[in-house]
Amino acid sequence: MNNEEKVITFKDLGVIDELCDACERLGWKTPTAIQKEAIPLALKDKDVIGLAETGSGKTGAFGLPVLQALISRPQRLFALVLTPTRELAFQIKEQFEALGKAVGVTCVVIVGGMDMTQQALELGKRPHIIVATPGRLVDHLEKTKGFNFKALKYLIMDEADRILNLDFEEEVDKILKELPRERRTMLFSATMTSKVNKLQRAHLKDPVKVEVSSKYQTVSKLQQYMLFIPCKHKHIYLTYILNEIGNQSVIIFCATQMSTLKTALMLRNLGFTAIPLYGKMSQNKRLGALNKFKARERSILLATDVASRGLDIPNVDYVINFDVPMHSKDYIHRVGRTARAGKAGIAITFVSQYEVEVYQRIEQLLDTKLDVYPTVKEEALVLEDRIAEAERFAKMEMARLDEKGGRKGRKREAGDDTEESLGVRNRINNNNNNNKNKKKKFKK
Ligand code: AMP
Repeated sequence: MNNEEKVITFKDLGVIDELCDACERLGWKTPTAIQKEAIPLALKDKDVIGLAETGSGKTGAFGLPVLQALISRPQRLFALVLTPTRELAFQIKEQFEALGKAVGVTCVVIVGGMDMTQQALELGKRPHIIVATPGRLVDHLEKTKGFNFKALKYLIMDEADRILNLDFEEEVDKILKELPRERRTMLFSATMTSKVNKLQRAHLKDPVKVEVSSKYQTVSKLQQYMLFIPCKHKHIYLTYILNEIGNQSVIIFCATQMSTLKTALMLRNLGFTAIPLYGKMSQNKRLGALNKFKARERSILLATDVASRGLDIPNVDYVINFDVPMHSKDYIHRVGRTARAGKAGIAITFVSQYEVEVYQRIEQLLDTKLDVYPTVKEEALVLEDRIAEAERFAKMEMARLDEKGGRKGRKREAGDDTEESLGVRNRINNNNNNNKNKKKKFKK
């Protein structure tokens, strides 16, 4: 099977050449997740509700379709973007101008704290696009002669949750009354609040909701690192890092069920409270594993992508990608398990000599080079012999499980056996007076 993930371009989304060129000039090589979701819908004239926050590339997600429509039907006062803060308003204007430069798009910002008369003059020139904070826009709608939105084709509400939460509701209602019903509406919001829901019912036409994990770009609480290490040293560095970070909750993502199980067995042999979670386990076992992790009875969860998808995995301090995910979007899914709800989190991706290409695709998607996770090689390699021993144990244990599974016609699941055998093994280890294994964490 070819695991190569096809790189989706702006052109693939239906963006016209002029705008693709503009993206290229801005250094936007490929669309971000929200752009991939929202642009094709918006180009099909759908109303869109996008759940995405600043940093996800959402300005491009609404900017490109608006500009494309404007280019095909040039018209003054074509689009209005409402946004809660002045800073955002200027950022949005900059992106519109950068994307629409070649086609001569005009854009003005209407925000409080600036001269009303000057703004009235700029509105008098009837720009293509207005980016505004609601309060000042209402002032102009009420006081500036000849200014209206009768011909408006697009309304975009940026950070709609904030606009509504910041008591802009009254102003927004006044603005909406002035807009033609025959228009397209796009609404972007970091969260779907009940107020956003209300607005959706009132003013959008059969909106399509798109939601992406936008953690990957500028969520400042998520620190992302990579570690370039030889494949044979992965277990060594994993153990080293787990020792370093102490009793934090960690999810370790592995590529296959085999490596999930093997790594779990190895870690257990070293005295870590690790628990595996993978697709072959029954739903009950999976939930059981998850509950132990949630209750902090186990601080380390090892999972495959298949197992983690769709499950409610709680906040975690660290995500370690033991294997680089084959699909870039899985990377985003994985690291999104940490740094949730405003909490800090760290993601570390192990990259071996065999994974460089796949990893580079992720960096391309992130449009950034990740920092190297700081480690001290000498300190890590001290663990080499002990890890080799634990790996041997894991291998033997897997062979034993396999044999047992075979004998019993594979009636039992590896997950059941694993937990059980691990428990037994741990007791044996402890009884064997293996001091290292007695401790919660394996010590060097
Ligand atoms: P936004 O979420 O719209 O505030 O965008 C955040 C940043 O991402 C801005 O600096 C954009 O220039 C940048 N950006 C938007 N789309 C892309 C893309 N497809 N590739 C790279 N950077 C992008």
